[in-house]
Amino acid sequence: MTNLPLDEAEVLIIGAGIAGCSLAYFLAKRGVRVIVLEKWDVASEASGRAGGGVRSQNRQGPELPLMKEGIDLWQSFSRGFKTDTGFMQCGNLYVAETPEDMAEVEADHAKARQAGLDVHLVTARQVKELVPSLEMSVQGGTLSPRDGHTDPAQTTRAIAREAQELGARIITGVTVTDILVQGGTAAGILTHDGSLVKAPIVVNCAGVWAPRLAKKVGVPLPMKTIRGVTTTTESANPVVPVSLRSKRISIAQRPNGGLRFADGTVGKGKYCYDLGLEAFERIPLWFPIFWVNRQELKFRLNPDLVRRDFLRLLKNSRDRWGYEFPSHYTLPIDWKQVRKRKQRLDKVLPAARSLRTELIWSGLTNMLPDMLPAIGPAGPKGHYIISFSGKGISLGPIAGKLVAEWIADGRPSIDLMAFDPNRFRSIRSVSPKVYR
Ligand SMILES: Cc1cc2nc3c(=O)[nH]c(=O)nc-3n(C[C@H](O)[C@H](O)[C@H](O)COP(=O)(O)OP(=O)(O)OC[C@H]3O[C@@H](n4cnc5c(N)ncnc54)[C@H](O)[C@@H]3O)c2cc1C
Repeated sequence: MTNLPLDEAEVLIIGAGIAGCSLAYFLAKRGVRVIVLEKWDVASEASGRAGGGVRSQNRQGPELPLMKEGIDLWQSFSRGFKTDTGFMQCGNLYVAETPEDMAEVEADHAKARQAGLDVHLVTARQVKELVPSLEMSVQGGTLSPRDGHTDPAQTTRAIAREAQELGARIITGVTVTDILVQGGTAAGILTHDGSLVKAPIVVNCAGVWAPRLAKKVGVPLPMKTIRGVTTTTESANPVVPVSLRSKRISIAQRPNGGLRFADGTVGKGKYCYDLGLEAFERIPLWFPIFWVNRQELKFRLNPDLVRRDFLRLLKNSRDRWGYEFPSHYTLPIDWKQVRKRKQRLDKVLPAARSLRTELIWSGLTNMLPDMLPAIGPAGPKGHYIISFSGKGISLGPIAGKLVAEWIADGRPSIDLMAFDPNRFRSIRSVSPKVYR
């Protein structure tokens, strides 16, 4: 049996990614006894594999108030934490390359300003002044000076350390296999070796595995998992002082000089869906979204996933295969995509031509059909969910803070209605949006 501090927690959190660690931090700060249970290690999944952009641009309306307050948290973490979070508040420059892009940028800017975000329109000349070595056609863009980029694993570990210093316990190597409910109220969790840990509040922050645990307490989260790739060059002299993004490319120069680059907001075959049997669930809901985003998507039948899903259909194999994924499953890299990206980088930033690509990694992220996060109470009383639709590094700290308020004060300080995790009980279709 796992040697767990049974029944000492007021709140149990499943998953030590940026969501779970941020929530633990804000709860511990309020003196709440909190335990985080993590099957691998802190930041071992999406929060350790993300690109690390922290930005207000290309957001959907309901996310804007979260980003407005969220960016203050990023700043306060950088100033107040004992260890470096890796956040560089260098500003985010979104570049419009065509008049059509510029029209979209202006509309996005108007929305952001209305929500009180610090985002400014910039001219083509200002873009060139900000990044003189940039060689792309530029119509103008927006600059959000308070945004920037981070090392997501470093940030998540820094938040985890601060939470622990405040008294939170983070226990790794423990897989949660079930959420206990008694009389309509969350009562604790079960672990892979049959241990029972009781607590009146349970929060599911399990990233791409969140839907499986949510299903056990009757909450449908029709999430799909997509695979993305991030790349970094060897170290270079300073060339990009801001975090830069356009439809075709994203570039950020890390403190060691390495240029981290990825596709922009649009990219042929940018996201990969690894298909197992589970991928065919709720297809009528997803088909219009796949269709609208067909240029950005590619599909690959994954034998590991088919095998896993098949075994889950067999008696007694459900938990074994349901929660350890993707330990049995390698995250492949699309080398053609990586080469094409590097060619694009060399074209728009000639200074990068002599640089080798040094680090390449891929990771899984989750997506709900309306591309908004799920944040808040769901299913039995005392059960909460924090789960993102991509972009969860930027939103992780504020989501943690708001759910801590919900648990401790009875309601969050920002309206989270649009993120209600229960919304997919009744939704049969959503108006499809373009992935950004
Ligand atoms: C390639 C890539 C690039 C990205 N780029 C960006 C970006 O630039 N900006 C941005 O804002 N976001 C970005 N994202 C998205 C972002 O990484 C995620 O939205 C965010 O990290 C999700 O955090 P999380 O804490 O919800 O999930 P995770 O970080 O996945 O954490 C979930 C944790 O739960 C644990 N767990 C799961 N099941 C169980 C269980 N049953 N028992 C115990 N533990 C369990 C897992 O091991 C994991 O550690 C990117 C993602 C990818 C993959």
